[in-house]
Amino acid sequence: MPNIRAEYIWIDGEKPTAKLRSKTKIINHTVKSVEDLPEWGFDGSSTYQAEGHFSDCLLKPVYIVRDSVRGGDNVLAMCEVRNPDGSVHASNTRAHLFEVSEKYKVHEPWFGIEQEYTFFKGAKPLGWPDNGFPAPQGGYYCGVGADEVFGRPIVEKHMQACLDAGIAICGINSEVMPAQWEFQVGPLGPLEVSDQLWLSRWLLYRIAEDFDVSATLYPKPVKGDWNGAGAHTNFSTKAMREPGGIEVIKTACEKLRNAHAEHIAVYGAHNEERLTGKHETSSMTDFHYGISDRGASVRIPMVTVNEGNGYFEDRRPAANMDPYKVCARLIETVCG
Ligand code: ADP
Ligand code: MN
Ligand code: MN
Ligand code: MN
Repeated sequence: MPNIRAEYIWIDGEKPTAKLRSKTKIINHTVKSVEDLPEWGFDGSSTYQAEGHFSDCLLKPVYIVRDSVRGGDNVLAMCEVRNPDGSVHASNTRAHLFEVSEKYKVHEPWFGIEQEYTFFKGAKPLGWPDNGFPAPQGGYYCGVGADEVFGRPIVEKHMQACLDAGIAICGINSEVMPAQWEFQVGPLGPLEVSDQLWLSRWLLYRIAEDFDVSATLYPKPVKGDWNGAGAHTNFSTKAMREPGGIEVIKTACEKLRNAHAEHIAVYGAHNEERLTGKHETSSMTDFHYGISDRGASVRIPMVTVNEGNGYFEDRRPAANMDPYKVCARLIETVCG
């Protein structure tokens, strides 16, 4: 018997920010693709996804990677939540992205997401003093040394785990606030980048667990003069990547200006604490785009301007955003 451990991972119904949940199923045949995994169920009354008297929800595996924590032939399976009759559950945001990505696939949208997050040890950010605060921000971003960065062993282990799983992690860096870090995933199509981002978040929580450290995606984990945490979402279509693409990008920015409120509505809860216009953010209430401008809502990177084509960076999404919602919204606004 192969005794494969398949970790079924899904998104719960918690509001305003949904959370990851998972449980393990032993599979007694080889698992090569997602079709090899059976559907499964869980008690939705414990995850804000059902009432107690009729609480079964269905788990439909939709994307698998190697389980780089358990190793061997074990797998991590991202699942969609369905109602008992197989219809899309109210908390399932992936099903809509699936429809959108099918509808607009001729545009060949690509995404690269920069996931910022903050380590906590108990009630304080990892490495912060018991009383008071660390030295003000300035030296921590991309820093090195025990007085500058906190948690590197976890970050390295997480990066390796993503690579071993087959996740398209493309970089990491320490951030402006001490104990805050970033990793990037992509560029990939909308469903792949979103499934992989959720799985890489799960791996982050799971690996930090072994260090007795938690990771939070809260957009403003420390009030005051400390940077918040975002999930800059880099986006391109085929036309943007081809010669003359810069004009397509500018047209996209004008469409984004007109849809600013609809975007902010799905860019994560508590984002108003972060999008203050300070700490390398734009204001929550107005939209502007600019070249190399890290205070803009949308930044057109210098390389894109120099080459005349490429991608743009939407700097508005908060670290706790749901990539299924953000990718769907961007495609609908820009390609619609
Ligand atoms: P920053 O300078 O904003 O910190 P990063 O290097 O952290 O930039 O992240 C850049 C992101 O842009 C990566 O996630 C990468 O996958 C993504 N990216 C690169 N090229 C493209 C493209 N053509 N379309 C979409 N995303 C892209
Ligand atoms: Mn970055
Ligand atoms: Mn960053
Ligand atoms: Mn960025």
